[in-house]
Amino acid sequence: MEATPGASVATAIRLISRDKAAAASSTCGPGLASPPWAFDGAALPQYGPGASAADPAPAATPRQGALPSEYLEASDEELEARISAAKSGLGDRVVILGHFYQRDEVVRHADFVGDSFQLAQAAASRPEAEAIVFCGVHFMAETADLLSGPEQAVLLPNLAAGCSMADMADIDSVEECWEQLEAVFRGRETAGAAPVIPVTYMNSSAALKAFCGRHGGIVCTSSNAAAVLAWAFERGQRVLFFPDQHLGRNTAKAMGIPLEAMPMWNPRLPLGGNTEEQLRHSRVLLWNGFCSVHKRFTTDQITAARQQFPGVRVIVHPECPMPVVDAADESGSTDYIRKAIEAAEPGSTFAVGTEINMVRRLAAAHPEHTIFCLDPVICPCSTMYRIHPGYLAWVLEGLVRGEQHNRITVPDDVAAPARTALERMLAVRP
Ligand code: SF4
Repeated sequence: MEATPGASVATAIRLISRDKAAAASSTCGPGLASPPWAFDGAALPQYGPGASAADPAPAATPRQGALPSEYLEASDEELEARISAAKSGLGDRVVILGHFYQRDEVVRHADFVGDSFQLAQAAASRPEAEAIVFCGVHFMAETADLLSGPEQAVLLPNLAAGCSMADMADIDSVEECWEQLEAVFRGRETAGAAPVIPVTYMNSSAALKAFCGRHGGIVCTSSNAAAVLAWAFERGQRVLFFPDQHLGRNTAKAMGIPLEAMPMWNPRLPLGGNTEEQLRHSRVLLWNGFCSVHKRFTTDQITAARQQFPGVRVIVHPECPMPVVDAADESGSTDYIRKAIEAAEPGSTFAVGTEINMVRRLAAAHPEHTIFCLDPVICPCSTMYRIHPGYLAWVLEGLVRGEQHNRITVPDDVAAPARTALERMLAVRP
């Protein structure tokens, strides 16, 4: 059952307590109002090589065209059978990757399920596969292209599957920010400590990873953000962290950095909306990006969960706003959440603040616990949702015919410095 807009957390939790088996489906559902093909077409966001949706896409950029009607009209059962048949016919020639937040009807066909970086590494572990079908979003497919072999093709089943957070920092805005920071900090270099070290979250375009590679910076994930920030502070006086303000703030706060030393950078305003003095006193400059899924979680939801389930363990993702992370019992990456639930004593109750597909899957995999999503209304990732089984069938059957649909290629001049930033991250020990 899906909750209707306006349903309270208490209502959702009452439903859970009445029928534990239905816990995973009693809060928000994984569906959205429009089918994913509503997003296909020329007017929709598209991604130039290595870029975010806000960067101008070259004229030759492939666009997600209309899915052939045979896929639009196929029943769920038919798509399931066609995907299975195509995958089995391709054998080791293809590897399918499914992100934790991907819908079940797609994930069940995946050879690997994980977070974006785990999946890119999984792709690199299968050099015999000529095609890597990435059932995630655009920046993830780019990362897989960076880490896979030159002969391997990374395919994104739907080109409209981007990440709204990654799109909040485009390369032009970041370069403009950098120029302003260079002007403010000119002459303030100290021996062995650059004025600013750029750090980008994995959830960013390859162009931003390359920017970090060229400017002494680094990439981080939600698992290693604290170790990466420590690495950056060994080399610089402050960090420019993009695109997710929440991961940056939550991580830096846990390291003891005061909030007043973490001004936000608004790319639409001169100096990001700050004074030169604020910038000089900063330790972490936070880009004003956020994840539209994780910013929905609130402290009221946590309060309601605790009232209904005394002793509930509240775990949220660090992309949630700081008050939510502070009110939770724990915060951590998708992998942290998964492992915490796996390690818990049977009979535990978890309220989880992350994407609904992952929460429902955890609830189904752990009937010994009660697991529910904190948000009772909407919490699927609307861009990940665009990878419908119809697109997966289309891409796989194309491979069977020798056609590569939706290949994602990061150009060499972007790929080389982007790999540098990724390699720096891999060398950091948490
Ligand atoms: S859940 Fe948030 S950060 Fe992850 S892909 Fe979706 S919009 Fe991007």
